[in-house]
Amino acid sequence: MKEKIKIILKSGKEQALKRFHPWVFSGAIKKMSGTPAEGEVVGVYSNKDEFLGTGHYQGGSIAIRMLSAMETDPDQEFWTARIRQAVQYRKSIGLIDHPETNVFRLINAEGDRLPGLIIDYYKGTAVLQFHSIGMYRVMDMIITALQEALPEKISAIYNKSAGTLPSRDGQRIENAYVFGEQGQQPVMEYGNSFEVNCETGQKTGFFIDQRENRKMVELQSSGREVLNLFGYTGGFSVYALKGGAARVDTVDSSSVAIELAEKNVGLNNFEPGRHHAIVADAFEYLKDIRDKYDLIILDPPAFAKHQQALNNALQGYKRINARAIDQIRPGGLIFTFSCSQAVSKENFRKSVFAAAANTGRSVKILHQLHQPADHPVSIYHPEGEYLKGLVLYVD
Ligand code: SAH
Repeated sequence: MKEKIKIILKSGKEQALKRFHPWVFSGAIKKMSGTPAEGEVVGVYSNKDEFLGTGHYQGGSIAIRMLSAMETDPDQEFWTARIRQAVQYRKSIGLIDHPETNVFRLINAEGDRLPGLIIDYYKGTAVLQFHSIGMYRVMDMIITALQEALPEKISAIYNKSAGTLPSRDGQRIENAYVFGEQGQQPVMEYGNSFEVNCETGQKTGFFIDQRENRKMVELQSSGREVLNLFGYTGGFSVYALKGGAARVDTVDSSSVAIELAEKNVGLNNFEPGRHHAIVADAFEYLKDIRDKYDLIILDPPAFAKHQQALNNALQGYKRINARAIDQIRPGGLIFTFSCSQAVSKENFRKSVFAAAANTGRSVKILHQLHQPADHPVSIYHPEGEYLKGLVLYVD
């Protein structure tokens, strides 16, 4: 076995790794015993030459994604064990062979001790999304591990990493089926049917992370007039209709999304007339909704993809929340979310607070929402907690 390149950290920078944080930033590196290739497995050491662990190297701000605190050469057995653990966890939370749900997250990167790897499961189709070159280089072993850990349950595997990996040696990574063919449709979530297009859809095709929050909307929708802003596939709309909403308006700026939302509402056989799908800009639409709704869902795209964009993002959250709080009927509920990793729970809450203060209305927090259990957060990696939401009651 080839000797691993040794990465020595600056004094004090070993502390995070000793507390099992899975990242080493480039600024923490003092010296390297050679020049590692992109994605190469390296050994990490403290300034005092103590061994700290094994990780994948990649040029960039996060220079090493840690795989283990042990000295290891990750082989098939290593990857199979990690994937089996993740499958076992999903079994224990009841998602494998769930009678009403066949779409869930199977691997959640750091949360499953597999940094750089996302795998979503859609009724037999596994959609892989690689976020690091190191993981991408072991794709074949990941595929074998998946098939071993979930025998009979995987009929297709789609690699959707063109948008998440840098191009390698000038070569673009293409999205493609690496096993089997296009999956079966529709998928099912809590007994609701959804048409999902993993190839052309956003993320891996569906916002799986809102499953439990959609369920909560269902429970609160009876008799209400609902606005689902940034509606995409109409996920929240289908649950609101199921929960007995008197009317649901789905608004999205993309006509493709609006068509999909209409199709999904149709798939679930609701009587016609309760749902209206509208192509419009959310900020414009919010200008004139006074007393029209008594339940509003605000689930915008990540306003801040990077730390630099943070201030603008917080202003964006404040603006949409202020308009919704100002105009909702008395006694109305607002489900408001942020999926930006760069926006902390505290910052999000502060911008909703500032929005409420602008309106002067009485606002209570009913619930604080987050990502579901199939998107686990490692306690050592708080950055993994990205989805946060508040349910507000406006008097
Ligand atoms: N709530 C959805 C996910 C939302 S994704 C779900 O549960 O599946 C964000 C959506 O916002 C995308 O569909 C995108 O087309 C839409 N969008 C982005 N900017 C917008 C804008 N300014 N106005 C309206 N919709 C917008």
